[in-house]
Amino acid sequence: MKALGLVELCYTIANGGMAVITFYLLLLGLLGTSLLAVFSWLAGWLQTSGAVMLVLLGSTIFALSPVMAGFLALFFAMSYGVQGLKKWGLPPNPTDAHEIIEKAGARDAGQVVANCGPLLAVLVGQRWLVSGQSSLAVTEASLPFLLAEVAVIAGVAADTWSSEIGVLSSKAPRSIISGRKLAPGLSGGVSLLGTMAGAGAAIIVAGLWWGGNQLFRPEATTSAFFWVPALAGFAATWIDSLLGGTVQQKYRCAICGKITEQRQHHGELTTKISGLPGFNNDTVNLLTGLLTLLLAFWLQGL
Ligand SMILES: [Zn+2]
Repeated sequence: MKALGLVELCYTIANGGMAVITFYLLLLGLLGTSLLAVFSWLAGWLQTSGAVMLVLLGSTIFALSPVMAGFLALFFAMSYGVQGLKKWGLPPNPTDAHEIIEKAGARDAGQVVANCGPLLAVLVGQRWLVSGQSSLAVTEASLPFLLAEVAVIAGVAADTWSSEIGVLSSKAPRSIISGRKLAPGLSGGVSLLGTMAGAGAAIIVAGLWWGGNQLFRPEATTSAFFWVPALAGFAATWIDSLLGGTVQQKYRCAICGKITEQRQHHGELTTKISGLPGFNNDTVNLLTGLLTLLLAFWLQGL
């Protein structure tokens, strides 16, 4: 068997269909996400487990749709941007937010799955149900999937910005359920600043998607390209707060009496006071992502 030359390789890619192209995209994705993961790990934004999960999920997403992977990278850039600003410019978090947020430091594998899993699910669904088309082609069959993908990314961006910026609010957040004042950082709390930050992030992601399409294929672009991801992405922050205020587990510390999402405080186990078994912050984020994509499909049926 003779070695495969470059011409034969191009011929294979051109004629081998989606499977071969996907394979080469996967290799390219592995390279790109590895660089991103190492950079994020060195910067202290990702734990080792989070970096490994980012390479696994990120390269699969890239293989299925390089453009959506690019949008997901935009989400990472937006969330790093806020963290960078906090380090150098914005005031630091209120002192006790880190005592309440379940995972306040670098992101781990669970958080990466919660942020990237729903997007991967829609991409796999699209590849499964709309076979034989480029992942970016706008057709009657693919459009609902494309808008749901952007909506999910807008949702995780909005959620991240509303919580990262929301904790900086000088006014105490209020419970979305009872309206009572809550400690900053506790799930289920909403503030005007956090709400506006969430809306801003959803508008940026949806606006870039609409603008890019308007630029490259204006004939296929409709206003739904903007409003579906913007609306579903913004709704994600409310879904997250509703779930966070109801089913997410909360604990009370026996030593300082604070309500927290951490299992331990001062090295001692905390006592569960509310929430359903298994519903931690990652479960809530994952569920929020899945509900966001259902909402995006539903909105398009209007
Ligand atoms: Zn305590």
